[in-house]
Amino acid sequence: MYSNPIYKNSPDWLQSTLLSLRSYARGALREGAAFRRELNDVQKTQWLSANELQALQLARVQKVVSHAAAHVPYYRDAFKAAGFTPADLVTLDDIKKIPLLTKRQAFDAGDRMLAEGMVGPRFTNSTSGTTGMSMKVVRDLHSINRENAFNWRQSIWAGAQPGVKRLWLRGDAIVPASDRAAPFWRFNKADNTLMMSAYHLSERNADAYIKALEEFDPVFGMAYPSPMVLLARHMLNTGRTYRGKSLKGFVTSSETVTDEHRRVIEAAFGCKVFDQYCSAERVTFIGTCEHGNYHVNSDYGLTELIPQPDGTCEVVGTSFDNMLMPWIRYRLGDAVVAADPKYQCPCGRAFPVVERIVGRVEDYVLTPDGRHVFMMSNMLDAIPNLLEGQVRQDTPEDVTILVVPAPGKTVDVADAVKRAREQLGDGLRIKVETVASIPRTSNGKLRVVVRGFK
Ligand SMILES: [Zn+2]
Repeated sequence: MYSNPIYKNSPDWLQSTLLSLRSYARGALREGAAFRRELNDVQKTQWLSANELQALQLARVQKVVSHAAAHVPYYRDAFKAAGFTPADLVTLDDIKKIPLLTKRQAFDAGDRMLAEGMVGPRFTNSTSGTTGMSMKVVRDLHSINRENAFNWRQSIWAGAQPGVKRLWLRGDAIVPASDRAAPFWRFNKADNTLMMSAYHLSERNADAYIKALEEFDPVFGMAYPSPMVLLARHMLNTGRTYRGKSLKGFVTSSETVTDEHRRVIEAAFGCKVFDQYCSAERVTFIGTCEHGNYHVNSDYGLTELIPQPDGTCEVVGTSFDNMLMPWIRYRLGDAVVAADPKYQCPCGRAFPVVERIVGRVEDYVLTPDGRHVFMMSNMLDAIPNLLEGQVRQDTPEDVTILVVPAPGKTVDVADAVKRAREQLGDGLRIKVETVASIPRTSNGKLRVVVRGFK
């Protein structure tokens, strides 16, 4: 939002109004009758038996695979090359006859991933920085409504209902990076949501954030874990207690939440932490239920957990709901530890349980004025022509952005510096280096931020 010049140059009160207007406009599209129908549907399908869920999955997979074979150039060719036709898909297990799809293949396929001849509104976003590779994902309105319904189902598991007061502390640029004084938040009336900037949070202004939260008194929050951990540690270290009365839980996502994170947040705020795992491609949704178990939402997509030699499982997903850009057997590049398949969660849902999600713990850039700037992946994702990127902070004053341009393309260095400056402010020297590749960690992950000092 902050990249919008009208928003950027407006006073605080007008920014709140603009945020609300955007939400009203979105809400008209996304929260009308179609959304409520989908929410009713997913509220029912969460209670299907294992057999009923399998039948649902088979029907959805057959539908998306037939559609892809008929209308999506990439799959038409890939199926042909593999000698596969939709008629070969008789049981769920038959999906293994379809080759896996890597991020690189999807990236190279470009618009050939899109179904031909589809009409209606299109919504474009970028893949998250989980692997650092930025890729456009295009979705139809049905996919948006379904996603919204699944997100709300997760929030309902956390004790919320649509319309209640909500905290939003995620990657959105809510206020200018150069702002030095509170408020670092805006109220979005349309969504009844207090939107807080995660980019301005520091030990020094943590109290102001907590006070604003207590005054707003949300029922639940959607948050990245890292800023919540900073707030929680600050409270525990200073012996401050949270005085809000309505808080029931937080739903964290996008970064790995460790047991320690969970313990700290729960101790400071006195509420439960629910965690959800999903991706911009919308192929897999894993979330924690009231009993704290991670469930693979079987009515969202077909999630295959492929065992690896190290005892983890690779997550491979097939989307059910985006016919405009279907994802079939897509390798997400993340891993989970599966639970005993015989285990049944006391919540009564037949969705499979995973022990934990093995992801990446996101690091942050530390600014000279003490801010912890998380979610640099959002900045990287917005740089045009970028294949992969990484932010390195070798000293407290220096930041280097490594960029790998997409094949045959170049990255505009001045533009990249400007984007980084918008998030980091003026206190750091920022340079951009074009490189051929970015080294991976020992487990093959690409880290978005590497900080060379404590
Ligand atoms: Zn459960």
